Amino acid sequence: MKRVYLDNAATTKLSPAVLDEMMPFLTNIYGNPSSPHFFGQQTAAAIDHARQQIASAINADTGEIIITSGGSEADNTAIRGIAERYSKKGRHIITTAVEHHAVLHTCELLEKQGYEVTYLPVDEYGAVTAEQVREAIRPDTILVTVMFANNEVGTIMPVAEIGAVCHEKGVFFHTDAVQAVGHVPIDVKAMNIDMLSLSAHKFHGPKGVGALYVRKGIVVPALIVGGAQERNRRAGTENVPGIVGMGKAIELACDDIDEKGRRMTVLRDRLITEIPKLIPAVKLNGHPTNRLPNNVNFSIKYIEGESILLMLDLNGIAASSGSACTSGSLDPSHVLLAMGLTHEVAHGSLRMTLSDETTEEDIDYVLEVLPRVAERLRNMSPLYNGQLD
Ligand SMILES: *Cc1c(COP(=O)(O)O)cnc(C)c1O
Repeated sequence: MKRVYLDNAATTKLSPAVLDEMMPFLTNIYGNPSSPHFFGQQTAAAIDHARQQIASAINADTGEIIITSGGSEADNTAIRGIAERYSKKGRHIITTAVEHHAVLHTCELLEKQGYEVTYLPVDEYGAVTAEQVREAIRPDTILVTVMFANNEVGTIMPVAEIGAVCHEKGVFFHTDAVQAVGHVPIDVKAMNIDMLSLSAHKFHGPKGVGALYVRKGIVVPALIVGGAQERNRRAGTENVPGIVGMGKAIELACDDIDEKGRRMTVLRDRLITEIPKLIPAVKLNGHPTNRLPNNVNFSIKYIEGESILLMLDLNGIAASSGSACTSGSLDPSHVLLAMGLTHEVAHGSLRMTLSDETTEEDIDYVLEVLPRVAERLRNMSPLYNGQLD
């Protein structure tokens, strides 16, 4: 059966060139990077090199990169770290209603510990403005955390403008850029970003490894203690193969990022323009143009998202109803609800996320299968009474 993988926002395929780079560190090169002997120096040097690759991909300095176990740990480290370290200055944090749960649940935890969190509402496309951030900043605000691009609907936030407002007001600015790194160009200096989370498995690197960029001069206490690794900012013997793979993957992803983005945008826009012609009563979720080059998200009215996914899977197409973390639960997406969708419409959402390996034929196949599946499900649906819209 033809198989089409369109769930790259959940995770991506490890690039063969990345595996080649990792292989020696899974076999012959195994020293502990903290050991002073030859074996340790070999792996320590490999980590230095990877750190350089990560730093240059986002225009940071090598000393500003803390390697973590992934995006979730990077988000936790940034938010909990700033809250702990700067609590004397204030206990107010600003975020948005559409963040990843790694940010939202961390903020909820801090609320239980006496911090105050403002969850900025978003517009119909899932975006906040820099003006909203400005108006929410108070004298006791210590942190603004706004994602770079949304993992469900792909909308890109005005990060550089938000960064400029935060700097003007003297408030730290963290961005969860897990969906953006390797997909759109990022310059932490030009964009006034103080802290940024990234994760290797979202750009064809290995799972279980990520990084937090922390601008020089900002102190973020370690979340995990017990060793002097990462200059005392993250304890634990390093995941050397993972780190080496992340370095190679970010280099490859950022190499001709514009060209790959343009190619994916063409395929993305084919789905965005063709699906409404082939299936009545659909709604595009997220901004029509200011979105990730690989993200398509539609609500297909009168159908349950889960049943579309099941039928697509039976036809070899892997998609998602939103985020991998919430599928399996029956709660509709917090992102779609925050954008003003009704529970019913939010339930019928379908996310398809492309990679640079997605082909024209893959898109043809989706455009052939999806309308058939949608029609069949609608005919069976108790929500659908024969009238659309
Ligand atoms: C995937 C994702 C995360 C979590 O990253 P992990 O490396 O899987 O922990 C955090 N934020 C966003 C926006 C994501 O898409």
